[in-house]
Amino acid sequence: MTPRTSVDTPTPASPTSPAGAIIPSGGVRRLTGLKPTGHLQLGNLLGAIRPIVASQYRSETIVFLADLHALTVTHQPAQVRALTLEQATVLLAAGLDPDRALLYVQSQVPQHAELHYLLECTTGYGEAHRMIQFREKSTNQQQVRLSLLSYPVLMAADILLHDTQEVPVGDDQSQHLELARTVANRFNARYGDTFTVPRAVHPTVSARVMDLADPTSKMGKTGDSDAGTIFLLDPPEVIRRKVQRAVTDPGRTVEYDPERRPGLANLLDVLAACLGSSPTALAADYRSYAQLKAAVTEAVEAMLRPIRLRYDELARDPGYVRRVLADGADRARESTADTVHRAKRAIGLLR
Ligand code: AMP
Repeated sequence: MTPRTSVDTPTPASPTSPAGAIIPSGGVRRLTGLKPTGHLQLGNLLGAIRPIVASQYRSETIVFLADLHALTVTHQPAQVRALTLEQATVLLAAGLDPDRALLYVQSQVPQHAELHYLLECTTGYGEAHRMIQFREKSTNQQQVRLSLLSYPVLMAADILLHDTQEVPVGDDQSQHLELARTVANRFNARYGDTFTVPRAVHPTVSARVMDLADPTSKMGKTGDSDAGTIFLLDPPEVIRRKVQRAVTDPGRTVEYDPERRPGLANLLDVLAACLGSSPTALAADYRSYAQLKAAVTEAVEAMLRPIRLRYDELARDPGYVRRVLADGADRARESTADTVHRAKRAIGLLR
């Protein structure tokens, strides 16, 4: 028996419904989940959303709002709902095309939870407990939810459910992707060829945006302070203020040196990502920090303005976004039913 692997099996044909293709076929199948735990920020755009939007033209692109994952830590129910709709709207505003990519909300597709349980029966407690993210996130928490321990298994289910071939992951998620591969291989070996084994793809280093107020840590949507985070829906004056206050260093020259001058390097990285240029080449164009910060403000604002305007339009008609999500969930339920059926049959629940 040969386990399914993303490397040595051809791209699976897209499942089709009477209404047409569930995901327009062609290219490698890629999956990304965004967790509705905060407002989307510049790092999400450069590190995840822009690559997703670009990939929809050459890959089978699946994007879901990972609202089940948002329940693994203390949460406000109304906020999870609101952020789920907000993030979906931002994705559409940033150019995700629901006719090209599959976009849906995880909790609207029960196959995620169903496969999660089957994979829990394939994963060891020790394996889950070894996850670095679990150790980091559970430290200093009074009550650790069991789901925080098992969420990498849910993540494996999210991935395997779709016969995903590639998963773009940052360093912090590499260990979880490895677990998904281990669980898939184990299930295939024990119960027969059932899952496609996914592989990780790593975004380029310059896609890692650092916090403007603390350039040694990654910009995040749920940090302690908002001062160093540019949110995608921030108004222009807020963007300007945050960039003006970005931490640099006492030097005077503008040069690209991420090791010794991380704040300056981050500003150059952001500018380079906005302009599609190289940070080293850009450094030569600026004589002062003031000039550089003015250029960063302008470039970020030019990139975010159309997204903000389109967001405002879409937000006036939440019915449209809800219809897109309902249609996406219908298609996702239909396209994943076969994987769950296969897994149930293999593990002994169905004939
Ligand atoms: P998160 O916001 O941590 O749920 O991440 C969602 C996606 O955005 C993942 O693909 C991350 O790798 C990406 N992402 C989040 N923050 C950053 C950042 N500061 N720089 C680059 N990519 C990021």
